[in-house]
Amino acid sequence: MTSQTSDRQRLPEWLKKRPGKLNASRTLSNKLDKEAPNTICQEAKCPNRGECFSKGLLTFMILGTVCTRNCAFCSVRHGRPMPPDKGELDHILNAVDRLNLKFVVLTSPNRDDLPDGGASHYVHIVQGIKTAFPHVKVEVLIPDFQGNRDDLAVVVNEAKPDVLNHNVETVPSLYTTVRKGSLYKRSMDVLAAAKEMNPKLLTKTGIMMGLGETVEEVETVMRDANERKVDIMTMGQYLRPDKENLPVEKYWSPDEFDDLKKRAQDIGIRYVFSGPLVRSSYLAEHVFDDLSGKDNPFA
Ligand code: SF4
Repeated sequence: MTSQTSDRQRLPEWLKKRPGKLNASRTLSNKLDKEAPNTICQEAKCPNRGECFSKGLLTFMILGTVCTRNCAFCSVRHGRPMPPDKGELDHILNAVDRLNLKFVVLTSPNRDDLPDGGASHYVHIVQGIKTAFPHVKVEVLIPDFQGNRDDLAVVVNEAKPDVLNHNVETVPSLYTTVRKGSLYKRSMDVLAAAKEMNPKLLTKTGIMMGLGETVEEVETVMRDANERKVDIMTMGQYLRPDKENLPVEKYWSPDEFDDLKKRAQDIGIRYVFSGPLVRSSYLAEHVFDDLSGKDNPFA
């Protein structure tokens, strides 16, 4: 029996039934052209593809599909990436148009090979979207730029996203196994610095549950995020994407996710999205609209 098979067999009931249509991926692809942009939905084998694609939602992956780091939880390929694709913006604009998106979520792999970590490419893409579609809001899920404030400032002040997300992913004690090559404090500093650079910018972070963390450790992350004025926090169940990735240590129940949400709210975080299938980009438009006082388009 493979690790993946045993993982699947061990899945608790609440993770076996997932909303959405199984063929949603093909339906969405049909709406896009042959040069459809990359998505983290596919690269990370997200369990919500059926639901999100049924609703016409996706998260674009810019700067290629190869990462310069090798986090143990992530299925994105590791290696030497290609230079940024100059044609990427056109493919994204085409997809935004065809899917009639009002809210675009973008992410990228770590690009420690580039002098600016990819910051100027974020500006190219975000500003390109906003110029072509002035009504469209953009959320970026960024890497840590190795803690370089100048690169971060380029994204905050020149790309001007509506939401800036940087995931801390896990509790500090698990960084050496889960997020080798990254630093917990550095990631928290990115969130603090982004808010300092633009206090009106909505900031967001997220963690995965099920890698061996304790409630007390998660509360520490909540407090650290709150001290850095993070507006939105997401918490979801880690699911092993490939047999090479870390195994699941624990499946947290829906009630436990509700309890985590209450703890984060009590600590002071403004918007908490917590549940077994919550991912940092999951229903990001709904979260943004909720915070902006608009009606939820997916209710
Ligand atoms: S939750 Fe995010 S990554 Fe997963 S399918 Fe939805 S948009 Fe894509």
